[in-house]
Amino acid sequence: MTTVNNYASYRPEDHGLPGILELGEKIAAYFPEFAPAASVAYNPKVVSAESSKTFRTDGDKYGASSAERVGGVPVSEIRADFPILSERVGGKPLIWLDNAATTQRPRQVIERIVRYYERENSNTHRGAHTLAARSTDAYEVARRKVADFIGAASPDNIIFTRGTTEGLNLVAQSYVKRRLRPGDEIILTILEHHANIVPWQMIAEETGAALKIAPVDETGQIILPEYAALFTPRVKFASITQVSNALGVITPTAEMVAIAHSFGTPVCVDGAQSVSHMPVSVAGLDADFFVFSGHKVFGPNGIGAVYGKSEPLEEARPYQGGGNMIEDVTFERTTYKKAPAKFEAGTGNIAAAVGLGAAIDYVTAIGMENIESYERSLLEYAVRELSAVPGLRLIGSAAQRAGVISFVMEGRETEEIGDFLNAAGIAVRAGHHCAQPILRRFGLESTARPSLAFYNVKGEIDALAERLESPPR
Ligand code: PMP
Repeated sequence: MTTVNNYASYRPEDHGLPGILELGEKIAAYFPEFAPAASVAYNPKVVSAESSKTFRTDGDKYGASSAERVGGVPVSEIRADFPILSERVGGKPLIWLDNAATTQRPRQVIERIVRYYERENSNTHRGAHTLAARSTDAYEVARRKVADFIGAASPDNIIFTRGTTEGLNLVAQSYVKRRLRPGDEIILTILEHHANIVPWQMIAEETGAALKIAPVDETGQIILPEYAALFTPRVKFASITQVSNALGVITPTAEMVAIAHSFGTPVCVDGAQSVSHMPVSVAGLDADFFVFSGHKVFGPNGIGAVYGKSEPLEEARPYQGGGNMIEDVTFERTTYKKAPAKFEAGTGNIAAAVGLGAAIDYVTAIGMENIESYERSLLEYAVRELSAVPGLRLIGSAAQRAGVISFVMEGRETEEIGDFLNAAGIAVRAGHHCAQPILRRFGLESTARPSLAFYNVKGEIDALAERLESPPR
């Protein structure tokens, strides 16, 4: 019996399946009834007249005007793909403006996961039976989709994780920790999410290293000369967010990576808030590592990815051991597989990886450039509308921003604002957004934070502004 136990050497033809094909075609070739689902692409024609009609509930009260389009696709059609957008909360149509916390999932993703469990479910890389091969194939196709989505050279540079948090811990524990000596330094920025602070703090404490924090200006933007001034020969690593989850600031990531590299320092980029709003290229950024979460980009919970350049992945030592990642085990010594397998101990969230592949298909078909430009104008509109609300103060005004608006209101606690909006069916986040240092930089403990996605429309922003203008009960 053949054992499928190495990603790099896995070949469907060894298992009575057609040879390596392109992405979704692979599954379609041996599994014809799955063909449409395997390579779900956004195609307005796929939304049948019937499904569009049945979707039209009160929940679509704030539906898009016919002029609102992402690229060529009417936003009303996009909204029809997201079942939850027709939900009512407390009797009101849901207005989902908490996309920085998590995005909603199109039915193409939901259905792909259902199909995986109905027809393909098996553990991967193990038995040589048909379902193991289907499952392995689906998992590896998803890995390639992730690689293509973020501009990675090869699927071998993509490690599946539970999400951004686990990805950052993996990079910290597997690669950075063993390079640190007492007195060494890691550079972060004050914009970071706690997930891009605590893992570095933990390894700094364990090794006697220290953190150095890059400041921002009054708009919330990184000051590049001050960033460059932090680098010394003691700096062994840097980690930066591409988009701040608290303020929406887009950092000059490529320039920051170039500065770090000019001092010979490798860099990890936290892409949790960038992947859903703009095209991302790890090659263009020249990032040594890049991490993101599936649930922030219309994919399932419990899945995310680490991209790593080949050399550091080769050098890194896995921080979790177990099945799936070994070449050979004796009680004296274990040898590991090559990346990515050596970092994927145990059974992964296979269905979620497959669902992430479907989410990537979905946004790719609409076009990340189209999503970026649609959201830019929606954000401008939202900033304009909210600025006009009496007593409302926007926090962070950097020229380059994506997806997020943070604000406080005179005489109102942010938690109160959250509750008051929720009573009108409007979901925003109110709190510290797991980014306390940057809020404290602005003298605050919390803000209210509406955050956008490409299915949001001006009507929803109007409803938000209108509600904020009305006095609280
Ligand atoms: N980094 C940033 C910038 C984030 O916005 C988030 C999630 N809010 C994370 C990291 C952590 O992501 P996850 O909870 O999916 O691991």
